[in-house]
Amino acid sequence: MLLGALEAGGTKMVMGLADGDGNILKQASCPTRLPEETLGDILAFFQGEKIDALGIATFGPVDLRADSPTFGNITNTPKLAWRNFPLYARLKDALGVPCAIDTDVNGAVLAEAELGAGEGLKNCVYFTVGTGIGGGVLSGGQLVHGLIHPEWGHVIMNRHPEDPLQRGVCPYHDHCVEGYACGPAMQARWAMPAQELPDDHRGWALEAHYLAQLCVDAMMTVSPERIILGGGVMHHEALYPMVRQAVTSMLGGYLASPVLSDMDSYIVAPRLYPDSGLVGAALLAKQALAQ
Ligand code: ZN
Repeated sequence: MLLGALEAGGTKMVMGLADGDGNILKQASCPTRLPEETLGDILAFFQGEKIDALGIATFGPVDLRADSPTFGNITNTPKLAWRNFPLYARLKDALGVPCAIDTDVNGAVLAEAELGAGEGLKNCVYFTVGTGIGGGVLSGGQLVHGLIHPEWGHVIMNRHPEDPLQRGVCPYHDHCVEGYACGPAMQARWAMPAQELPDDHRGWALEAHYLAQLCVDAMMTVSPERIILGGGVMHHEALYPMVRQAVTSMLGGYLASPVLSDMDSYIVAPRLYPDSGLVGAALLAKQALAQ
């Protein structure tokens, strides 16, 4: 079995070939430009390889309603050239194999729950914290979609009273987690990129405050057995213990589970990084083949 995998990102496209166990055998990437020229590079990678199915883990928002005539189209992305682009249909038509598409973060949570940091668990949340913030949910072993799909980045937050920003950087909301905690928010707040903030800078505690709210919101709604935090901002590993501590404090002892007595094992880094999304795309391809 040879599975095709595409992790479609706003900055770059990562293409991969994987075996039936989700092991990546070969991969390549190209920068995301205008849709037609980018598609040419993607197809050039897969054409000539005898893939049995293709899985796509994409940036969004994307139409995932199974009965929709525009299923698999990118929808109202700020990347205007990609708005309404039929990513799924174009790839499926060109490659002529079974295809599946989901969000990049749903791909990542699927991969981490099957093969990575959430191995063996049926209820996991994966958050990515970088240029944007997004989250994928596996609940009862199923990826969660719903009306559109979860948009964790835009969960409304309590602003920290000492935050120098009076409102977040999200153009849509004054007080959402992406607006307060994405990389560009840190840049806007401290006038330097997140990776340049000194280890003892109070910006990290503020970041942990917002990410902890996000984790607590997830714990109170979808009740994950583990939370996986990935993305560029999480390269600052000291954030993990800060987030765990803030989560424990915010919970106020309310949730009763022995699992939560070991926060080090509850809020964790991804194990498949940086390939979580790509491996997830391969697993989506496997699902498409099974159907
Ligand atoms: Zn927002």
